[in-house]
Amino acid sequence: MSSLIDQFQRTHRYLRLSLTDRCNLRCVYCMPAEGLQWIPSPEILTKDEVIYLAKIFVQMGIEHIRFTGGEPTVRKDLLEIVQGVAQIEGVQDLSMTTNALTFAKLALPLRKAGLRRVNISIDSLQSDRFSELTRGGKLTKVLAGIDAAYQAGFGVDSPIKLNVVVIANKNDDEILDFVRFASEHPANIEPRFIEYMPFGKRLHRNTHTQSLQTQLSKQTPITPVQHSSFNTGPAQYVIASEYNVRVGFISPISNRFCASCNRLRLSAHGDLRACLAKEPHPTLRSVIRNPEHTPQDIQQLIQQIVWGKVKGHQCATEDKKQIPFEGIMTQIGG
Ligand code: SAM
Ligand code: SF4
Repeated sequence: MSSLIDQFQRTHRYLRLSLTDRCNLRCVYCMPAEGLQWIPSPEILTKDEVIYLAKIFVQMGIEHIRFTGGEPTVRKDLLEIVQGVAQIEGVQDLSMTTNALTFAKLALPLRKAGLRRVNISIDSLQSDRFSELTRGGKLTKVLAGIDAAYQAGFGVDSPIKLNVVVIANKNDDEILDFVRFASEHPANIEPRFIEYMPFGKRLHRNTHTQSLQTQLSKQTPITPVQHSSFNTGPAQYVIASEYNVRVGFISPISNRFCASCNRLRLSAHGDLRACLAKEPHPTLRSVIRNPEHTPQDIQQLIQQIVWGKVKGHQCATEDKKQIPFEGIMTQIGG
């Protein structure tokens, strides 16, 4: 029985666990070129703290844990963390969002450690664009990472999802290219197009889901997929039947999904966020580092934060509006 219910009767079963705010890329929509003021290392939750907190969340009703970041694969003790969390009784789904730069080496050990699913971020299938959007990333490495993921067993019983953040006039003409890529790859691959979210300052222009779907429908027949048991997250799906590919569209800006939000976010230094919106997000770190604390103290704090979750974020659809978002994507974890 879940105790993670808020005042609007939303039940939370999904925890996004950021393992670090550091990253080996500098994507233009996520980080400035010079990087950020990183969370001081002593504040980052240790492996044991992450596993301990994950256990508490699962006891409270979390069923799906996703590792994110920053880039989770830069964390040296990643395999031990994945293994520790995979062994928690009650974890039904364990996944990771990654840029897959080092997946050629890591995919198999991660699979063996208990990771079940991966979402791989890849914003363009053109090397020069990819390099521009990630400020120097090598597309070939990510493609090798996708192949390695497939060889390790991801993308067989459930899809490897490709996350594409769409920015107007940068990569919004590649929808069909991703569909073709998914269709030609031996793995079950599901491209998902995410509307750019302006955190802090708006630096780029959005292309909204509706215009991407219109673009795709002019290139190939598409059929909308109704919400169903496989499709409970925020993505809207269509099938590109000619290619036999399911395509997701995530529209945090043009079609906010706050009313059905079931996710919580824990930062690498233990701040718990119930919503991306500007709201207090107290830290669990100071409580777990107090030797006098009990697991009930943590549960109470978590319950309090969840109960106080706001009804929804106010991220604006219009380019000129000020965005009342607070925080940095690499701390929030996407
Ligand atoms: N480094 C990993 C990666 O890129 O997959 C995980 C962390 S990243 C912050 C998680 C997801 O957030 C990625 O799919 C990324 O593309 C997405 N993201 C980052 N900044 C975004 C923004 N401003 N708007 C929309 N999505 C964003
Ligand atoms: Fe790094 Fe992911 Fe942010 Fe890109 S989106 S800079 S890979 S954390």
